[in-house]
Amino acid sequence: MSQMADKINEVVEKALKGEIQLHEIDDFLEANAAMVARRIVIEKITGAKLPSIGSTIIDYAEVKNRNAENVIGAVQVPLGVIGPLKVNGDYAKGDFYVPLATTEGALIASVNRGAKAVSLSGGARVKILFDGMTRAPVFKLKSIDDVVDFLNWVNKNFDKIKEVAESTTSHGKLNKIEPFVLGNTVWLRFVYETGDAMGMNMATIATEKVCEYIEREFGKADCLAVSGNVCSDKKQSIVNSLHGRGKSVVAEALIKDEVIKKVLKSDKELIHEVNLRKNWLGGARAGTFFQYNAHFANIIAAIFLATGQDMAQVVESSMGYTWTEVREEGLYISITLTSLEVGTIGGGTRLPTQREALSIMGVAGSGNPPGSNAKKFAEIIAATVLSGELNLLAALANKELGKAHLKLGRAAKV
Ligand code: NAP
Repeated sequence: MSQMADKINEVVEKALKGEIQLHEIDDFLEANAAMVARRIVIEKITGAKLPSIGSTIIDYAEVKNRNAENVIGAVQVPLGVIGPLKVNGDYAKGDFYVPLATTEGALIASVNRGAKAVSLSGGARVKILFDGMTRAPVFKLKSIDDVVDFLNWVNKNFDKIKEVAESTTSHGKLNKIEPFVLGNTVWLRFVYETGDAMGMNMATIATEKVCEYIEREFGKADCLAVSGNVCSDKKQSIVNSLHGRGKSVVAEALIKDEVIKKVLKSDKELIHEVNLRKNWLGGARAGTFFQYNAHFANIIAAIFLATGQDMAQVVESSMGYTWTEVREEGLYISITLTSLEVGTIGGGTRLPTQREALSIMGVAGSGNPPGSNAKKFAEIIAATVLSGELNLLAALANKELGKAHLKLGRAAKV
């Protein structure tokens, strides 16, 4: 047996005897060997065999202290593509193939048919209306007089606060501070531009530094937590829906009558009525607040998984609205994503398969100028969401949803 195998076995024995904990294995072995040792420990304790989890191309030296702890391997998810999808954005211009990672049969086929209909109709026009990642620390003050002093002080010292925040990053820019008050509690919602990064670490690091500065210089505000939930990260919230978080993006297309007939095999009046009664009336009746749409989350989750985005941010990134109008030339459809949080650098985007997936759209890494890759990516996502909405509404109008899932979700002959 090799020296390395001996070393791994030795560490496994120690862990099984309880002499070292799972995370302490990293102190005895380099990252890739530690991953193997930890997996063997779990196999021995649980009796499960994990050869598939162990078959991975990831270099764990790259993951350690960056992406995950206590690693034992990786899971794999099928990856498909849709396209070509014609996008007429300010950053994304042309025909794109978009990677979707999913285990939901029929999803990729569905979005692909929508993309065909959108492209044959001239493509999706896309606009980014807002760009800003937020962090909102919560402060405790003694009285409401102190609250008013605090708000005035923050307002007066904005330039200095901006300087402190931006001293921690070369790409982050503090654009504004939105105050929220409840009695003697204050939240300051810091809004940053974060270049091509989704920006959550960047915004947190900058805001922590500002909180220290505020406590020291203002003196009467106690920062209880750098995140006070008014941010709002990984939660549905009115604040994100109204003020935006990440990127607020709108996409529209006018689907031609002949395309509705030939590609979607549907009818514009019917699709429109399904949108109104399902997404809007059904949404209102059920209380699907901020989400009057058919399945934004399906497309957002599949793209996020494929490209190394923060999966928990699917929550707010899939908030939004689908609007349709019957027009003489065809069906007008638009989608509005109020808080799409995406990056092409940092976080999980640096992992090899995720980076390749980003490169399919030409958006891997830093853009030139910085920020342009993340904006291009957001526009492509919005056009893909539009395609997914269009096709699902048509499938529902055609009463073919169950059939498609039987064929592509259960491998049944229909
Ligand atoms: P990050 O990897 O922490 O930061 C981005 C890094 O890339 C920075 O060091 C930045 O340098 C650098 N950079 C180089 N070129 C850039 C470019 N063109 N545009 C922007 N940055 C560039 O990524 P992040 O987006 O801030 O944070 C994402 C991670 O935060 C994810 O892993 C997510 O899961 C996690 N997360 C954190 C929290 C939290 O509260 N901390 C909450 C939710 C999620 P400069 O800073 O010098 O500009």
